[in-house]
Amino acid sequence: MFSEHTSSEGPVYLTSSVLPAVHAFSTRLGGISRNGFETFNISVHRGDEPDAVRENYRRWCTLFSSGVDDCCVTDQVHGNYIQTVTSKDKHACLANISTGADGLVTGEKHLPIFCFTADCVPVLLYDLEGHAAGAVHCGWRSSAADILNNAVTAMQSLGAIPQNICAALGPSIGSCCFETDQDVPDALNAYLHGDSKGLWVKREDGKYMVDLRKANARRLLQLGLLAEHIDLSDACTMCHPDKFWSARYTFRHHQVRGSMVAGIML
Ligand SMILES: [Zn+2]
Repeated sequence: MFSEHTSSEGPVYLTSSVLPAVHAFSTRLGGISRNGFETFNISVHRGDEPDAVRENYRRWCTLFSSGVDDCCVTDQVHGNYIQTVTSKDKHACLANISTGADGLVTGEKHLPIFCFTADCVPVLLYDLEGHAAGAVHCGWRSSAADILNNAVTAMQSLGAIPQNICAALGPSIGSCCFETDQDVPDALNAYLHGDSKGLWVKREDGKYMVDLRKANARRLLQLGLLAEHIDLSDACTMCHPDKFWSARYTFRHHQVRGSMVAGIML
């Protein structure tokens, strides 16, 4: 189950009851950005003021008792590469990075790892024995390229076993709004080895309404996670553009868009 909190520093964020570790999913509330980026935006690449983004990021990092230069962040390239990081891989705040990694895994304590989304599914992973944590950006391309398999495998390399891994799938575009052509269901059906019943509806006009969160949850079950260790947010980013960043909503309405962040720490 997800619950909402407001940080004493401002950010409004969500947590999941299945993750007994410091973690959070941001909203677009509780920052200082302006000019269409109101108010909590964490992306510096889309025209927001760097000073505002830095202050938002500072507020965010206080949730992890961390400084802004003491975290590891993903790249967003819609691939399936998972980077296993240590404190040697920390990024300076707002640095341009090009690791090609849509997901991070770490076995190091007190090292916050963050991924960024605006409709794609943010997946936070945690091993109940504390060997490893993960933060993964799952768009449909990364999902179909089986990035979650790579993440679980990387966590196993650090000593975790799938039955002990918990997963929270945060706010993202819901099946109410994720309209696609046939390529998306076809790709998801292939990566789920045909176990895709109930994950999409075909409309009369030939388009599909796809539940990407449930597709990823089903893949995690296939990978050996237990159903009681998987938690899905029911929040659709596109249905709630005042609360969440949605790439599709902002594109459709010719608005600038920011990014949300999800993070976890051992
Ligand atoms: Zn929706």
